[in-house]
Amino acid sequence: ETFFAPGDSERFRVTFSDAGGMEALKEEIRLKIIYPLQHPELYKAYGRKTGGGILLYGPPGCGKTLLLRATAGEVSCNYFAVGIHEVFDPYYGSIERNLHQIFETARANSPCVLVFDEIDSLAPDRRTVRDTQMRNVVNQFLSELNGLRSDNHRILVIGATNAPWQLDPALRRPGRFDQAIFVPPPDHAARMEIIRLLAREKPLAKFDDNALAAATEGFSGADLHWVFNRAAELALADALHAKKTVPITMELLQTIAREHVPSSQAW
Ligand code: ATP
Repeated sequence: ETFFAPGDSERFRVTFSDAGGMEALKEEIRLKIIYPLQHPELYKAYGRKTGGGILLYGPPGCGKTLLLRATAGEVSCNYFAVGIHEVFDPYYGSIERNLHQIFETARANSPCVLVFDEIDSLAPDRRTVRDTQMRNVVNQFLSELNGLRSDNHRILVIGATNAPWQLDPALRRPGRFDQAIFVPPPDHAARMEIIRLLAREKPLAKFDDNALAAATEGFSGADLHWVFNRAAELALADALHAKKTVPITMELLQTIAREHVPSSQAW
């Protein structure tokens, strides 16, 4: 038996439309991930290779995890999200056995997307790792990835990291994670789209998405979420007091944004 199940239906409901901006990224993902998975025979006919893993990297909070889930949603095939906790949970058995089990399950359920979030904790650079067991884990992870390339092109492996420099370089060898996609902090236009997505769900007074995007230079998607949640929290407190809906104002959003230190600044 397996200790993780194919992604539940909730996951399939997340699609590209839930990620604001990122048009070029979405197109890159379609070409590199989605179409090869859906039409391997066409790619083969034109001598284009499919398979191999894809690495998403970039500063925290800028939508890597969201993109992974949305990609699975777009493909609507089985989706296995592997967190570091599953792999390292001693309850399930040895780390190596857990790892092997994950790949076995993926093979048994192809076509599927196998997602490793925070892949740096699973495949740190072996030259920097003292612990022998951890080095064995990295070795095994690398060999499981080799197996995928040789026997099944319909398992798509995607990894995400905000510390790509900590990865073992062997992870990037051909047949493993050949391709890397940078997920940048949202630019002005992308922030405007994220802001519009966030505004959809809240009682807002007349507000100016363009001005708010300008006031949130350097903010990640996660930072923008935080601003809106904080504003909602404060407006709700007022509403409870007034016993009626109090709209979130532009002034409130701007004040909160001004006081917030963007999380990706140090990246
Ligand atoms: P980390 O590396 O810290 O895991 P991440 O890049 O994986 O970060 P996510 O977890 O995908 O970032 O995003 C953090 C939060 O910000 C989520 O709630 C996500 O929905 C939201 N978010 C990020 N980017 C966008 C975006 N482009 N559109 C809508 N929401 C976004």
